[in-house]
Amino acid sequence: MANLNIDSVKARTYDAIVIGSGMAGGWAAKELTGKGLKTLVVERGRDVQHIKDYPTTNMMPWEFPHGGALPLDVKEANPVVSRCYAFREDAMHFFVKDAEHPYVQEKPFDWIRGYQVGGKSLMWARQTQRWSSFDFEGPARDGFAVDWPIRYQDVAPWYSYVEKFAGISGHADGLAELPDGEFLPAYPLNAVEDYFRQQVKQKYPGRHVISARCAHLSKPNPVHYEQGRVQCQNRVLCQRGCPFGGYFSSNSTTLPWAQKSGLLTLKPNQVVQSILYDEQQQRATGIRVVDTHTKATTEYYARIVFVNAGALNTNLLLLNSTSHRFPQGLGNDNGLMGKFVGFHNYSARISAEYDGAKDLTTDGRNPAGGGYIPRFRNVFKQETNFLRGYAAGLEAHRGLDHTEHAIGNGFKDSILHPKFGPWTVGSHMMGETIPKETNYVRLDPTRKDEWGMPLLNISVAYDDNDAKMKQDYFDQFSEMFTQAGFTNIKTQDSGQAPGLDIHEMGGVRMGRDPKTSLLNEWNQLHACPNVFVTDGACMTSTSTQNPSLTYMALTARAVDYAVKAAARGGVV
Ligand SMILES: Cc1cc2nc3c(=O)[nH]c(=O)nc-3n(C[C@H](O)[C@H](O)[C@H](O)COP(=O)(O)OP(=O)(O)OC[C@H]3O[C@@H](n4cnc5c(N)ncnc54)[C@H](O)[C@@H]3O)c2cc1C
Ligand code: SF4
Repeated sequence: MANLNIDSVKARTYDAIVIGSGMAGGWAAKELTGKGLKTLVVERGRDVQHIKDYPTTNMMPWEFPHGGALPLDVKEANPVVSRCYAFREDAMHFFVKDAEHPYVQEKPFDWIRGYQVGGKSLMWARQTQRWSSFDFEGPARDGFAVDWPIRYQDVAPWYSYVEKFAGISGHADGLAELPDGEFLPAYPLNAVEDYFRQQVKQKYPGRHVISARCAHLSKPNPVHYEQGRVQCQNRVLCQRGCPFGGYFSSNSTTLPWAQKSGLLTLKPNQVVQSILYDEQQQRATGIRVVDTHTKATTEYYARIVFVNAGALNTNLLLLNSTSHRFPQGLGNDNGLMGKFVGFHNYSARISAEYDGAKDLTTDGRNPAGGGYIPRFRNVFKQETNFLRGYAAGLEAHRGLDHTEHAIGNGFKDSILHPKFGPWTVGSHMMGETIPKETNYVRLDPTRKDEWGMPLLNISVAYDDNDAKMKQDYFDQFSEMFTQAGFTNIKTQDSGQAPGLDIHEMGGVRMGRDPKTSLLNEWNQLHACPNVFVTDGACMTSTSTQNPSLTYMALTARAVDYAVKAAARGGVV
């Protein structure tokens, strides 16, 4: 019997465990197996295999019962997730539905999640920009949160490393505030986007309109073909899962690569309830999981644990990993875990029309989504009455004018004798928020889900800084649009709750001092160094850039450190 137990423990012992198989977990799996470690990836959601499990990917618009729109009953049953622009008939199977996984909104927060193998890497909009020195130096310069324990130079080689493998299209623009990367060719701006670029260049020195940078294979390299991926076909049906592997996801890229090593064990449908801590060894020894179908619990063991459950779920899991040594959650000696949550502010938009370029129209599709305007406020020095700033997206479009006849003979006639509508131009703000102690998540003291996990209470709100920043975006873009000769300019404050930007970060922040932070410069828990957190939970501040590329780079960097440290017989 004793032997049987030993055999059973051995069978459940790995070199490394990764919790979550999304953007960060996929990278951890690839890197750990690539370095020869027998790795277990545990994922709470169902399995989603590349191509095979993209049920809508080749469907025609008329094959959808609701033409792609959200069915009314689904909308009514899911008020939170329905507010996400990407929750549509063709992709709704990738989104967590409201009733399936409840959480507590102490303040309104739209928590958008994807519980499946691949996590939200299947659902994302693929915008990928590096952070700059101004971002990593931000908290120290502007006096909020704590100083990052790393600088741009520490991450730059790892940005290059992940960009080459993932495939990022972009243009080398030579901007200090938005460093260039290892780019595949950029998707060009269309005529009116380019016109606006020139106008801004002439009239606003220091402001730039560039091609959006995105994780699409505009021109694959040999390593991408080796991954089984081919050139992006510009179908722009990415939200359904891409059979060409045209965009980066864990499912198309990192997980299959890790599988090829023969060292990966992937276990879907397993909720990690807690991380096990051994007081004598003073380290984490493994995890306790619950099978989503049978509800049976099992333990798995490893020397290295990567927590990549997605920012807020990583907070939930660590807070729930209590022991005699860590009664407030694993590594939470200072009681700050769950606090200083940050996010992005996407609640402002502006639209306009352009009367020029009448001989031109848009043709084809741009999977990058148009232009990007890097942050220009408070970059080199503080110049406004609010801290930090915003980046912005830019999109111009000109389509056929069907407004008069949406159906019938008139509609047919408008197709046979096309008449173009005006150029429309739109922009949305991507504002940096300041992580504050009062923006927090915590475990619900009484309520649990059906797998025995406490519900997560979320208490996050905008503040006065966000309001001033939004007003500045409206003022600056109204002026820039006016200067460019655009008309019918309309600002729109969506009034949306935090969360819909889907870039929640923090709660387990990095820092130099164990008294004021949870993780060190290598993403190790100060108080339990064989546990690494490299998803959004680790972020000390939020920048304006889309965050996922930074999670990928930090993950690859931390794995490199962990494996080298382990080889030296070091802390892990
Ligand atoms: C519509 C949309 C558009 C977006 N656009 C962009 C963009 O353009 N650019 C950008 O940078 N980012 C974008 N994002 C955000 C991006 O998807 C996330 O930043 C990224 O996926 C986060 O990676 P992650 O690994 O931390 O989390 P996820 O990708 O969410 O993966 C976490 C995984 O952990 C699993 N998990 C959670 N709890 C447990 C547990 N207890 N046990 C086991 N498994 C668990 C989850 O099921 C999930 O699979 C977008 C997201 C959405 C939904
Ligand atoms: S645009 Fe590219 S990545 Fe998106 S679905 Fe089409 S081929 Fe795939």
